[in-house]
Amino acid sequence: MAELLEHGEDCTRKPSAESNARLHRKCKERLAKACRNSAYVRFMLDAMSRLGCDVDPDKHFVCEPCDPKLVGGFDHDAKEMFLCENAIYTQSAMENVLTHELIHAYDNCRIKYDPDNVKHLACTEIRAANLSGDCWFSKEAFGRFKFRWRAHQQECVKTRAVKSMLCVRNISKEEAEKVVESVFDACFHDTEPFERIPP
Ligand SMILES: [Zn+2]
Repeated sequence: MAELLEHGEDCTRKPSAESNARLHRKCKERLAKACRNSAYVRFMLDAMSRLGCDVDPDKHFVCEPCDPKLVGGFDHDAKEMFLCENAIYTQSAMENVLTHELIHAYDNCRIKYDPDNVKHLACTEIRAANLSGDCWFSKEAFGRFKFRWRAHQQECVKTRAVKSMLCVRNISKEEAEKVVESVFDACFHDTEPFERIPP
């Protein structure tokens, strides 16, 4: 898996003006294909619909040109997921971005998400890193060493969550690490709507 970072240093949504018709069309094709064929995407959409949040990919998922540091994000205010047409070049990249952002969308639907509460932010970033493929790249390499894999997964999830927090909030790294640490156990083990960390 490519190292796809959801966020750069500043990851606020600010669509750049230039849209490229070919990239835009490609992005929409990949998005439609993922919504049709990806078991993970379909599972998450069903789970949200069971909670009463009907997600209409045509309306709530938007392909747009982004700041080159971004690949996508979930816009809590607009209740939209934006996919960066200038950064998502393959079908698997599209699915990786979608799986991460779908956890944010799910959390937004499930709880009364308060964007000013840093614990809410830390928790949803922990869950997104844990339950999407963000930290799975080396699972195979650990083979039978399940214990080591778990330790690796926890470290990776913490690092990703801190990184994600730093680019959407103006807080220090130390502060972000402290908040992540304070909610980590609860949020790492909260795998809803999955029974456990998906294989
Ligand atoms: Zn995120």
